[in-house]
Amino acid sequence: MDGLLQSPGAERYFSLLGRTTVKDILSEVLSDLRRDLLNGAEISPTAETVLERALPVLEKRCRRSLLSVVNATGVVVHTNLGRSCLAPEAVQAVAEAASGYSTLEFDLDGGKRGHRSDHVEWLLCRATGAEAGIVVNNNAGAVLLMLAALCAEREVVVSRGELVEIGGSFRIPDIMAFSGAHLREVGATNRTHRADYEGGIGEETAALLKVHPSNFRMEGFTSSVPREDLAALARERGILFLEDLGSGTLLDLSPLGLRGEPTVADCIREGVDLVTFSGDKMLGGPQIGAIVGKKALVDRLRTYPLLRALRVDKMTLAAFEATLRLYLSGRTEEIPTLAMISASKEALRKKAEMLAEKLKKILPEEKITLVEVDDAVGGGAFPATPLPGWGVAIPGERWGSAGNLLALLRGQENPVIAGARENEAIFHVRTLLGGDEERICRSLRAVSEKG
Ligand SMILES: *Cc1c(COP(=O)(O)O)cnc(C)c1O
Repeated sequence: MDGLLQSPGAERYFSLLGRTTVKDILSEVLSDLRRDLLNGAEISPTAETVLERALPVLEKRCRRSLLSVVNATGVVVHTNLGRSCLAPEAVQAVAEAASGYSTLEFDLDGGKRGHRSDHVEWLLCRATGAEAGIVVNNNAGAVLLMLAALCAEREVVVSRGELVEIGGSFRIPDIMAFSGAHLREVGATNRTHRADYEGGIGEETAALLKVHPSNFRMEGFTSSVPREDLAALARERGILFLEDLGSGTLLDLSPLGLRGEPTVADCIREGVDLVTFSGDKMLGGPQIGAIVGKKALVDRLRTYPLLRALRVDKMTLAAFEATLRLYLSGRTEEIPTLAMISASKEALRKKAEMLAEKLKKILPEEKITLVEVDDAVGGGAFPATPLPGWGVAIPGERWGSAGNLLALLRGQENPVIAGARENEAIFHVRTLLGGDEERICRSLRAVSEKG
């Protein structure tokens, strides 16, 4: 071990990982080697062998794990790649909140304690027409808090067509069980009628819950009950009408051809008592779960102890306030998610042409082409409405297959996540941010030598 620790090059790892960590990693490699030798492996037990094995481990531990990547998939709200990218003003607000003290829970007028949700409540109300609002860690938390605080030990009526599972193991029946509320399913998978809801309401019923079907669409012989009718029914019977809107959009996107998704304001106007939605899906802000609606109900959530376990941190709140202010001042084109969703096909074609020119210079012998692609909003919104876009295609043969090329691109210092079609790697330009073209070029230059 002493010999290993004194070998040339070890110094570099001491400064990055600390001497103890380097020593621990070397010991692990040594015991692996001993085990392999005892099992009869033919290895020469020299310092070189140990170092050869230890080097990749040491290198891996020196690299940052949460890396910035290029999203060339065309999926705007890509959950595995971190969903929405923040607007510059939101990033600035995060940096300020993170690096200094703030009014997080401090009321400057009275010089006394304030509440962290106060920073965004008025903005949420302006954007949605709701009376009151509160924020928690994410939408899953928002649904959990709402059900636990208002429906525990009582029944909640949900259509069988809305007992959905979204990614990351969020299932309505499970979250319901966890909240202590009892699920009362009504209707059939494809059709649920007002009479089904009526029949499902009993002595123990606390609420009707409507759930956005998120990442799937049913077509054909289907029907569901309009919000207004559910609201009227709930009022008649003296119970609550709640909705998990999922992605939740604050803007009407029908001018972009994206129809059929209600805005949060639509839900409030149509009589939902409390609506929950995510901050980092179509809204284009940080990871957050918002609950907006009737003041008396929001006030009950404010004092419910679970809220403390789901509370948002100051960086998130700073980013959310800044994002909501962009909505307030009508500067939504500065929100990357909305800008990407609304990019015109002509603009995308120009962007693809520019990228193709650069890539042709790096790979002059390859047949690089512009291709029309279907991009996607992602995040469980508009799953059946592709966004027509443009991409740049590179044949994969030189690397054995498109899959091999994609894997090599993922392994670069500037990892690039692209799509594939038949045997071509496809770079969708809709989701490229400033500087990404250069990063794609750098990574492609590196892998061109491996082809
Ligand atoms: C995305 C989604 C959730 C979960 O939201 P998170 O913010 O990821 O916790 C819950 N319900 C629906 C319908 C969704 O689409």
